[in-house]
Amino acid sequence: MVDVRSVHKSFGAHEVLRGIDLRVRAGEVAVVLGPSGSGKSTLLRTINHLEKVDSGRISVDGALVGYRRCGDRLYELREREILKQRTRIGFVFQNFHLFPHLTVLDNIVEAPVSALKRPRRQAVAAAERLLARVGLADRAASYPRQLSGGQQQRVAIARALALEPKLLLFDEPTSALDPELVGEVLDVIKDLAHQGTTMIVVTHEIGFAREVADTVVFMDDGRIVEQGSPAEVLDRPRHDRTRAFLSKVL
Ligand code: ATP
Ligand code: MG
Repeated sequence: MVDVRSVHKSFGAHEVLRGIDLRVRAGEVAVVLGPSGSGKSTLLRTINHLEKVDSGRISVDGALVGYRRCGDRLYELREREILKQRTRIGFVFQNFHLFPHLTVLDNIVEAPVSALKRPRRQAVAAAERLLARVGLADRAASYPRQLSGGQQQRVAIARALALEPKLLLFDEPTSALDPELVGEVLDVIKDLAHQGTTMIVVTHEIGFAREVADTVVFMDDGRIVEQGSPAEVLDRPRHDRTRAFLSKVL
């Protein structure tokens, strides 16, 4: 489903991704851990072409991300094609990124109507189902500022799901939340995992990783240092850097 090959990315002279190889099969959950600055967000952003790679290739669901192959040459997709491709990849950010001036319902309905040209009535019905799924059926008419952080993040997840993405990317979805609100968001993500949604989740919630990850990836300094099952990486890490990191977050 997700195939990242030899991806390199620099900002100026700083090489932030130094040859990343990662494969995630359909229905699998990959959890990405690593210290601040190790390149986790940049990796997620390359997967939906919010950052262009300097070299290497990424494909999602069989389609090359950001490029079209023509013979043995690659051409970058046009903006409109990139946006269309991005609708197939949901992205949930640390700080929710909801539209403050739109109600909860309209936050969810906006993209299906404008990007996918769905009839509004159909998009509203789908949004109501999604709100029920994240436990917020009664908040459709609220504005984001009237919700707790945990509720806002659940709306953000419903909004990502409204495009029926093939892949969901989460970048530290609970790290901006008060501790007592983390569980309600992780529960929604766990439900999605159990329903077979393909996901890459950057998080330091080790309990969550243990419970739902098929594969755990530890990144440091732009490289994947270690990758394996939760038991392998979390309980029997092979690398000193993984051990040092885990001793801080556990
Ligand atoms: P954190 O845990 O703090 O979120 P991270 O692992 O997600 O860290 P990235 O955000 O991917 O790390 O950043 C990796 C490195 O790339 C950092 O040194 C960061 O300062 C740098 N960086 C990221 N985005 C840019 C950018 N747009 N321009 C310049 N440097 C950037
Ligand atoms: Mg980050």
